[in-house]
Amino acid sequence: MSQLIKNGRVITATDDYVADIFIEGETVSAIGKNLSVKANKEIDASSMLVFPGGIDPHVHLDMPFMGTFSSDTHETGTRAALFGGTTTVIDFVLQTQGKSLQSALDNWNSRAKGNAVGDYSFHMAVTDFNENTKKEIKHFIEEEGITSFKTFMAYKGALMIDDRQMIGLMEEVKKCGGLINVHATNGDMIDYLVQKHREEGKLSPLYHYLSQPEVTEAEAAERFVDMANFTGCPGYIVHLTCEGALNAVRNATKRNQKVFVETCIQYLILDASLYEKDFEGAKWVMSPPLREKKDQETLWAGINQGLVNVVATDHCPFMWEQKKMGENDFSKIPNGHPAIENRMELLFSEGVNKGKITLNKYIEVACTNPAKIFGMFPRKGTIAVGSDADIVIFDPNKKHTLSAKSHHMNVDYSGYEGWEVTGKVKTVLLRGEIAIENNECKIEKGFGKFIKRKKVSQNI
Ligand SMILES: [Zn+2]
Repeated sequence: MSQLIKNGRVITATDDYVADIFIEGETVSAIGKNLSVKANKEIDASSMLVFPGGIDPHVHLDMPFMGTFSSDTHETGTRAALFGGTTTVIDFVLQTQGKSLQSALDNWNSRAKGNAVGDYSFHMAVTDFNENTKKEIKHFIEEEGITSFKTFMAYKGALMIDDRQMIGLMEEVKKCGGLINVHATNGDMIDYLVQKHREEGKLSPLYHYLSQPEVTEAEAAERFVDMANFTGCPGYIVHLTCEGALNAVRNATKRNQKVFVETCIQYLILDASLYEKDFEGAKWVMSPPLREKKDQETLWAGINQGLVNVVATDHCPFMWEQKKMGENDFSKIPNGHPAIENRMELLFSEGVNKGKITLNKYIEVACTNPAKIFGMFPRKGTIAVGSDADIVIFDPNKKHTLSAKSHHMNVDYSGYEGWEVTGKVKTVLLRGEIAIENNECKIEKGFGKFIKRKKVSQNI
């Protein structure tokens, strides 16, 4: 099977030109002007942008939580991602404290295998680092192709590891060629504030926000950066939201340290005023919470300064009924919001279209950097001869409105209801196969492959 995408404006992290793209099987085999090749199918992409499939390296699909599960499965979540131009996602496997990493992976595989529509990989969240866990790290990197290890500096008693475990894990991960992702917030400070607010009868979603002030994130980011510097382990801060935390990273660059930073689309375009809407604010209860306008400016500037490397989602949807578990207590609201389908279009509309970032930067933070940092480049994250033909054909002028009525995520509300967006995904190819066309998904569950990743490089 071969396909020819004709006359599109091809955008990568570094290029911008009009050309034809010839695809044979799963990969791109030629790029050039007026290619004279015979293809089984031709797609006219005149006046369209043609860019690499998006990579969302921070999603939680079918994640067990408080006796329930995040509402998108690997099937519905990766399908919704494809509708929004994201062809590969990286989901988090969570170790249960007292059990092995392998048993957690087996558990996640049992839900993901054969169900994913789009391509996926896993990060391994280490919640209990001990002599047994230590022995598993090398195997994960070399045999499983899982090279990134998530740590939590918060959620004591469930997910959090202490600094002693963090240092030990960093040394082992560095030795084996992996990377540490971190949820960098000060768990003890947050636990104290949550308890204080509950005792004072302050129970609305607003107090979720007020229990996680900027300092709780800035302090932990700085501590993590120092530990990464001490051990020499590559570090990646997930969902960084604020000026104080980014300044910790900025300071680290002064001693020639590189720490990767991810923010999420919501932190760039939504702010904490949404928590003033009584219980409706639960739609945006996530950790860290939304911040202030000044933090949005910091994050956009950080992208252009090369300090913020990735824009992800932390997609973790819950139905409104599930959110209502915390109707009388903000600390019982399941954390997370849906965005896997909206990220690429929102970042284009709010970022590129409003002149905050260039088209090349857009591709860099949404496609190329996630592929490079997490060991999938150049197979994923760019359009080049030999790369997987994961390609988005995008209409940059098409206006549309985001709504729970039309999205494909398995969740009954949208965090962006009524949001006017300029730019729409038109056609998506995944490994040379048409995945999305005419607003329909053309591939079935099970098409999505687990992508084994290479060891990480600190130089991107
Ligand atoms: Zn997350």
